[in-house]
Amino acid sequence: MTMRIAILGAGPSGLAQLRAFESARRAGAEVPEIVCYEKQSDLGGMWNYTWRTGLDAYGEPVHGSMYRYLWSNGPKEALEFADYSFEEHFGRPIASYPPRAVLRDYIMGRIEKSGVRDQIRFNMAVQWVEYSAQTGRFTVTVRDLKKDELVTEQFDRVIVATGHFSTPNAPFFEGLERFPGRVLHAHDFRDACEFTGKDLLLVGSSYSAEDIGTQCYKYGAKSVTFSYRSAPMGYDWPATFDERPLLLRLEDDIAHFADGSSRKVDAIVLCTGYQHHFPFLCDELTLRTRNRLYPGDLYKGVFWIDNPKLVYLGMQDQYYTFNMFDAQAWYVRDEILGRVTLPDTTTMRADSEAWVAREEATTSVEEDIDFQTTYVRDLLDATDYPDFNVEAVAALFKEWKHDKQADILGYRNHSYRSVLTGTLAPPHHTPWMEAMNDTLEAFLADREVEDVRKIA
Ligand code: FAD
Ligand code: NAP
Ligand code: MG
Repeated sequence: MTMRIAILGAGPSGLAQLRAFESARRAGAEVPEIVCYEKQSDLGGMWNYTWRTGLDAYGEPVHGSMYRYLWSNGPKEALEFADYSFEEHFGRPIASYPPRAVLRDYIMGRIEKSGVRDQIRFNMAVQWVEYSAQTGRFTVTVRDLKKDELVTEQFDRVIVATGHFSTPNAPFFEGLERFPGRVLHAHDFRDACEFTGKDLLLVGSSYSAEDIGTQCYKYGAKSVTFSYRSAPMGYDWPATFDERPLLLRLEDDIAHFADGSSRKVDAIVLCTGYQHHFPFLCDELTLRTRNRLYPGDLYKGVFWIDNPKLVYLGMQDQYYTFNMFDAQAWYVRDEILGRVTLPDTTTMRADSEAWVAREEATTSVEEDIDFQTTYVRDLLDATDYPDFNVEAVAALFKEWKHDKQADILGYRNHSYRSVLTGTLAPPHHTPWMEAMNDTLEAFLADREVEDVRKIA
């Protein structure tokens, strides 16, 4: 009987797994039968924009957390697939910080060329996964959303690639229930224009706060106040920005902070991160972790140690994204094809704990970058994924961090060199602060194109 594999989710991680098997198949290997279940109607995961918030058309939680006018927050040279360069996809060099639609196009391009789309079953939401020690197989129950029917199938392996930036972590602050303005979590943020002319409070001090804050400023917010729990971001902000310590409570529209200060605000966005959430998994198979560089209980950051027939992709906090998912997927593929053998449980657990301890010992962004670089390097060395200069990518990330520190509103105007092609990216035709149109067409044009959606 042919081995059967279920991949849950067709975002960049799930697609990396499909692509990994496809490249082995093209090289002559016999590969298992693969079924990829995706609850959205297309592939691309987080990179698909949806106007919906809350529940989707079928009552399933909306996966999308991306919003209009979202531009990559890291250089594209740091996430380039080693087997498919940006230059190959676009036929020419492009600027380093593309908007969402451009990155989505790039992800789609590689997949359409590899011809794996027919392995994906769209509009299929995974409801429950069970493992039987007797049969050694998984039973996967999926809702066919269009037919509103449950479907059950058996698999030898299950690969969870459902992402971890979709279920909000939304803390309560006293007085929120009486706040007269809009309160939302970053997951439900869609359009900065909603906040034009408003005094905005953003709780949180990580990427969502930074990006939603700078974007709302770009689209005309009157002021942006960040509230941090651990530490301020500390950028050299323009005068209309402010960083305050933790929000303690609200009295009507007045926010009170831990330093005793207060200010009136019109709207609040909770940029307080996300929960790893796997409602379709039983307790024994569920990964429980905060957003960190090395979640425990996973060998090589992917194999569920208590039952390595279950794999998790992309569950790490991410400097590296697409190329790290590839490195993981190639490694997982090789284990499944019998090219890599896993050690015993005790060894796997000791190895995982050593990585966790190394992560805990890091004390700076630079050390965190080096940590994830070492992790990616470790995976790469074990497979035939095209070797790329991960250490040079680490240097790119450090340059990026420096560029942000120097100019938080201007870092996206910088250009970086591809470690694959050696090409230095051309500058974008328009500085980011003035580039209001985030479409693929506007990005690829030779000058700024007015956003027709805004002429009404
Ligand atoms: P996802 O892309 O989240 O894909 C998971 C897939 O699983 C989805 O298609 C989903 O529909 C599906 N799924 C979930 N549950 C089920 C279920 N029960 N049944 C069936 N299917 C299911 N990364 C960057 O590199 N650069 C950026 O600029 C960047 N910006 C980001 C901005 C935001 C606001 C967020 C939230 C993330 C950003 N990221 C960015 C990180 C992003 O998460 C990764 O780039 C990437 O999308 C992760 O891929 P994934 O496949 O692991 O997860
Ligand atoms: P995150 O990086 O996990 O950060 C969560 C933030 O919430 C931290 O600042 C944390 O503070 C804070 N927080 C958590 N609980 C809190 C509480 N009870 N009270 C106050 N603060 C609390 O999550 P994220 O910022 O949403 O980023 C998620 C992912 O989205 C990242 O991968 C990021 O790159 C991506 N993203 C990308 C873009 C873009 O590319 N344009 C835009 C947005 C997001 P502590 O520091 O105290 O823990
Ligand atoms: Mg650390």
